[in-house]
Amino acid sequence: MQLISEFYPLLKTPRNIVITMHQKPDGDAMGSTLGLYHFLHNSGHQVTVISPTNWADFLDWMPGVDKVLNFEANKEKCLALLDNAEILFCLDFNIFHRTKHLAPHLASAKAIKVLIDHHEQPDEVNFHYGISDTGKSSTCEMVYDFIMEAGGRDELTQDIATCIYTGTMTDTGSFRFPATKASVHRMIAELKDTGFDHTAVHNHVYDNFMESRLRFIGFALLNRMEVLYEYNTAIMYIHQADLQKYHIKTGDTEGLVNYLLTIKGIRFGAIVIDRTEERKWSFRSKGGFDVNQFARKHFEGGGHANASGGRSDESVEKTVEKFKQVIQAYKTQLQ
Ligand code: 5GP
Ligand code: MN
Repeated sequence: MQLISEFYPLLKTPRNIVITMHQKPDGDAMGSTLGLYHFLHNSGHQVTVISPTNWADFLDWMPGVDKVLNFEANKEKCLALLDNAEILFCLDFNIFHRTKHLAPHLASAKAIKVLIDHHEQPDEVNFHYGISDTGKSSTCEMVYDFIMEAGGRDELTQDIATCIYTGTMTDTGSFRFPATKASVHRMIAELKDTGFDHTAVHNHVYDNFMESRLRFIGFALLNRMEVLYEYNTAIMYIHQADLQKYHIKTGDTEGLVNYLLTIKGIRFGAIVIDRTEERKWSFRSKGGFDVNQFARKHFEGGGHANASGGRSDESVEKTVEKFKQVIQAYKTQLQ
């Protein structure tokens, strides 16, 4: 993978560009792809954003989201666009299999592949150009850097600012995680100068759910949480029937894992949700316990040191049992 600085000259002429992100995109995936979309589109390129899957309602207001193609719902069109693309941007994921059924098509695409990402251990051999920086708060922050380095300081618009702000906000836990350096706040100040409405972003993302989701959270906290004090760990497990009973949709379980870390002394939170195809784990930690390593070693996953995900083909009961087994080896680390 060559340095991203070597890539900028390729944008001097108008290009056919596809931008993609990880499956079930979060605020950072959608924010970074759309932020980059607006910048490149305004610069005269032909740009399409493809999401491997559908996305949460709490992202469905973002500027440009109406033009994002869901691969699972528009396969033929997406494949034709990929075929025609000269440049393929891959944002907010480190390895193709994070794009689910889109993965083989990304791997075989003829386009010049550009990675912009902040996850650990990227699969660099599959990209021609790129930047991977695990010290960055978000891929959105990296898109901002990209725009600045590509000479676009004067091209910042309210739409770009709104998108970049959204993903930075969601990936930093509203600017509280350690990766929220002074440079992040300086970036936000610069974005704010465009006049975009940051309060509206918070309202769209955090205050726009159905009553049933709040009732579901109450149910899960009461009935599906276990605190393992000797490991300073809390876990939660959600069954298919729970999701159905409360009409839980994509995105409704986002952030649930964070409640576990609000208990005094708890340094490791883990939630497993029974998605039809697999049991999906989310891991979060505070301090030195590395959940990227934990997810890689035990649950076929990865991510960041303090936020990662994994999966299992076993039942909820079985995978929770396995979790309780493997965690025993980390007792001293977690104390
Ligand atoms: P979440 O728990 O919010 O789904 O994911 C937390 C972080 O870990 C995100 O940055 C996400 O991209 C990453 N992540 C989630 N699941 C996986 C996985 O299965 N593999 C890898 N490599 N990263 C994951
Ligand atoms: Mn991210």
